[in-house]
Amino acid sequence: MATEALNYIGGSWRHSRAGAHAPVHDPARAEVVGTVPLSPASEVEEAAQAASSALADWRRTPPSERVQHLFRLKTLLEDDLEDLACLITRECGKTLEESRGEMRRAVENVEVACGIPLLLQGYNSEDIARGIDETMIRQPIGVCAVIAPFNFPGMIPFWFLPYAVACGNTYIVKPSKRVPLTMQRIFALFERSGFPKGVLNLVNGDRNVSDAILDHPSIRAISFVGSTPVARAVYAHAAANGKRAQCQGGAKNPIVVMPDADLDTSVRIIADSAFGCAGQRCLAGSVAIAVGEALTPFREAISAAAATRVVGCGLDDGVQMGPVISRESQRRIEELVGRAVEQGARPLVDGRGVRVPGYELGFFVGPTVLEGVLADAEIASAEVFGPVLNLVSVPSLDEAIALVNAGQYGNQASIFTASGSAARKFRYEAEAGNVGVNVGVAAPMAFFPFSGWKESFFGDLHGQGVDAVEFFTQKKVVVERWPREWSRKF
Ligand code: NAD
Repeated sequence: MATEALNYIGGSWRHSRAGAHAPVHDPARAEVVGTVPLSPASEVEEAAQAASSALADWRRTPPSERVQHLFRLKTLLEDDLEDLACLITRECGKTLEESRGEMRRAVENVEVACGIPLLLQGYNSEDIARGIDETMIRQPIGVCAVIAPFNFPGMIPFWFLPYAVACGNTYIVKPSKRVPLTMQRIFALFERSGFPKGVLNLVNGDRNVSDAILDHPSIRAISFVGSTPVARAVYAHAAANGKRAQCQGGAKNPIVVMPDADLDTSVRIIADSAFGCAGQRCLAGSVAIAVGEALTPFREAISAAAATRVVGCGLDDGVQMGPVISRESQRRIEELVGRAVEQGARPLVDGRGVRVPGYELGFFVGPTVLEGVLADAEIASAEVFGPVLNLVSVPSLDEAIALVNAGQYGNQASIFTASGSAARKFRYEAEAGNVGVNVGVAAPMAFFPFSGWKESFFGDLHGQGVDAVEFFTQKKVVVERWPREWSRKF
């Protein structure tokens, strides 16, 4: 039976008054497994009011008490991890192991946010002038919100949410309308963790909900993750309304393969980067740049890895790659590949039209490797967000780095090499927020900041760790005068 996603406002589950609901699909079966309300702006208003009412008490709750809820949440998430992973696979399509990994990353952020009593400390100086002391203290900003994408329904809100509430803010989550069910289950765990009513709120919907969040005067800070055109628009909208914003956008991640790279290891890791999560990762490798003699052996090995990758329903044993999120996405990817081939690209492995026995209606695209893509072809620069790898070759590392830096995005760049000097040069010169050396998905751990450069990010402060503490607090500096002669009175 299809589950109707509910909103969670002021500590209670509510059926939305939405005039319309959208279907939620299991992408492996193309079956409707749920419905999501396209909530009206008035429900964002209710969530903002609930979050504002909860703020006064929550910010006065000592940080060491606030994190007790996060400690409980960590245990609940771990106890529920297998069911959460199944739910993510069901509505998002990735393999069960990928979904488990996603939830482990979510838990990791909860763990780091449990360190808030220390991370939140300010600093002070005595005697900045005679009898005058100066102190910096951090205070919460107020009501904050996240607008999340479809590809990591369990993890991405956790890049922000645990830090936001640990710092004393209250919060609103707007999941992607394509994958609302994971947050339903996670909010049930928030409830069991004992967070006071109104500290965490959930409003489902589409752009209408985002706009209401961006326009609401009580909501002070926005974390957005999604495609670049929307990230740019959300950043402009938030800035126009005087809000703090961190907007993580799309990507087109290059991977350089040097002739001295260990071929077997590199190919295994690069195939996982390009085809893992069906390529629907902002850190997916999508352009392999083979340097010099690396081309011939790499071409053969990556083609074999792509051709033999097991595609199927993510819940089934042995499956290495699930479907993409929707029929629309499947068609868009196949059309992009089709246009590239019409323009002369050679499909070394062609994943268009793949059919999975038992799941004939599923939204599958097989692993695809293209060579000879024209530099001005759409697929050379557009984010595909599917399991498609472009293979190009250049004679030298300098030319590889020039190609890496010519891209509009800067989310991730990787190099595979046994040479320390090549790795150092790459690390130094690559224009990307996340750099991999013999790593294909350079996702920073929760205690490092995470975000891209260039068209992959709009904002100043990245997500996770200490940067998240910066984002979710405002600094106050107190200057105090206590002349010495006053103390002589006692
Ligand atoms: P999307 O941009 O379509 O949607 C993201 C969110 O924004 C959703 O909640 C959606 O409802 C909302 N939204 C859509 N249009 C809007 C508008 N005009 N105004 C306000 N809100 C709007 O992204 P998606 O398809 O859900 O996710 C895939 C994209 O996310 C890819 O481009 C991927 O690279 C990117 N992504 C980036 C990162 C990162 O860290 N940089 C991480 C994950 C995904």
